[in-house]
Amino acid sequence: MNISHHFDDATLMAYSAGTLPEGMALLVACHLHWCPHCRDRVEVTNSVGGALLDRLEPAALDDNALDSLLARLDEPEQEFASPEHSRSEPAGDSELPAPLAQLLGAPMDELPWKRIGYGVRQIDLELKGPGAARLLRISPGVSVPHHTHGGNELTLILKGSYNDELGRFCRGDVADLDGDVEHQPLVDTDEDCICLIATDAPLKFSGLMGRLVQPFIGL
Ligand SMILES: [Zn+2]
Repeated sequence: MNISHHFDDATLMAYSAGTLPEGMALLVACHLHWCPHCRDRVEVTNSVGGALLDRLEPAALDDNALDSLLARLDEPEQEFASPEHSRSEPAGDSELPAPLAQLLGAPMDELPWKRIGYGVRQIDLELKGPGAARLLRISPGVSVPHHTHGGNELTLILKGSYNDELGRFCRGDVADLDGDVEHQPLVDTDEDCICLIATDAPLKFSGLMGRLVQPFIGL
């Protein structure tokens, strides 16, 4: 796989620190499954985090520190935070990165795709916590409505390809966009483009097509 678009350093730092919303952590784990370059980078961000911890001066704890630590230990773990998790055996669709194949449990063609506009279908992954994660399946020649982002948006191409203002994105590539970027991806081959998209805030569509699609996307 020839991957040419990767994550920003800030995204990988947040992944190492375990602070990404669940959908974004899943998407990072999926890209890491395919991308040795970013796996190396995560090893660096992990060790930077460890080194920073080692250098912290000991500080006096307040009286409730033990109670709040114990309470945090009872919280569920961020399921997709570990790169090791992404290297386990795939289930379901073997063309997908293992963490996503395990979550979906069925080949992509057998999933209950929901039509949300002309040539665009989606599956909401309905993950817990903040943000949103969905699979988007876009037909050849179709462009996703112009949209900006209230927050950050990560896109991982699972199948097919698209072109937008930022370049050409193929299987394995990620688009790591902040709220200021406005783009309109266009599927540029004769096969469907299927992407995993994770946001930490709802997408904001602009233009007439966007206003028509927005209620169906349900964000
Ligand atoms: Zn990468």
